[in-house]
Amino acid sequence: MSYSVTLIPGDGTGPEITEATRRVLEATGVSFFWELRQAGLGVLEESGTVLPDDVIESIKRTKVGLKGPITTPVGKGFRSANVVLRKKLDLYANLRPAKTYPGLRSRYANIDMIIVRENTEDLYAGVEFQNGTPEQQEIIDTIARTTGTQLDNNSAISIKYISVMATRRIVKFAFDYARSNDRHKVTAVHKANIMRFSDGLFLSTAHEVAKEYPDIHFEDRIVDNMCMQLVQKPEQYDVLVLPNLYGDIISDLSAGLIGGLGVAPGANMGSQYAVFEPVHGSAPKYAGQNKVNPMAMMFSGVLMLRHLGEINAACRLEKAISAVIAEGKNLTYDLKPRPDDPTAVGTSQVADAVIEKMLALS
Ligand code: NAD
Repeated sequence: MSYSVTLIPGDGTGPEITEATRRVLEATGVSFFWELRQAGLGVLEESGTVLPDDVIESIKRTKVGLKGPITTPVGKGFRSANVVLRKKLDLYANLRPAKTYPGLRSRYANIDMIIVRENTEDLYAGVEFQNGTPEQQEIIDTIARTTGTQLDNNSAISIKYISVMATRRIVKFAFDYARSNDRHKVTAVHKANIMRFSDGLFLSTAHEVAKEYPDIHFEDRIVDNMCMQLVQKPEQYDVLVLPNLYGDIISDLSAGLIGGLGVAPGANMGSQYAVFEPVHGSAPKYAGQNKVNPMAMMFSGVLMLRHLGEINAACRLEKAISAVIAEGKNLTYDLKPRPDDPTAVGTSQVADAVIEKMLALS
């Protein structure tokens, strides 16, 4: 059987890490039919967009995408291609594993968390009112009339909104993921003591959903306490589920706990489609230098193999990458004690080393 997957190399260092990842995925023995689609700065001039329609059409057909990072052009009025992609495919769940591997420079051992971030609502919904506009004044007047609170007229407003529908589906996603991946605890993160209505709704809905999963332990944490707990005892946490903004912050904190962006994978998932990509951006200053770490994208490939049901191949690829990390020889600059370490290898050499380990494992 051959899996059709939309392959989007992206721009900056994206094409190099995508090629390295394609090679290791093929070396697992799983057969892929790659639908290659271009997005990013390379197609901007010709298409007038960083995300041409054929990218979306292809993912709608294959249902699965493997994506390199895409640069967001600054100050040209472009929306982030990543945000548009998530919106158009309704990829409502952002999944970010945070796991320590022996050999990574982390202050911790035994971290193995899955962070599930809601991807569509909260302060990211894009409902904002600019200072000095008639719309902003109307909102300020409405707030004064309905709540009795007079906000400063010279202010800007962003709306935080959280719905039952989106909360139910993200919390269900977290529990379903826990169940099918042999995980035992889900922690909902919130600030319901202060934002009693928005975060309060998130928390009460999470409690309701938890009742449908009696086999999985459920608890909740206030987000500030969660930050402290993650720094003090991250090994106690399993699956975390969070509204959009807290999810954004906590997942970067967690990437820091495990050794940095070079090894932090991600997935954006919805009910029909899934797109796998590293957490990091296009690191354009290193483009074309065979320098950056492809492991975050390779670990995203591991997530994709699991999603496709290729559990054996996923385990072998993960073991091979972790063996390369543990050996400490074929690592890019970011995993070395100093960034100018002369023993650092390049992107493609990491792929060679992972393939060699995988062949040794089989
Ligand atoms: P970045 O993640 O691209 O890079 C920040 C720094 O982190 C780099 O300069 C580099 O030192 C290091 N780094 C990142 N990835 C690395 C890797 N694989 N190996 C080794 N070191 C690595 O963040 P940025 O500079 O803020 O963003 C650059 C562009 O990427 C922006 O246009 C941003 O919008 C975009 N971006 C895209 C995505 C995505 O496509 N999903 C995600 C984040 C940022």
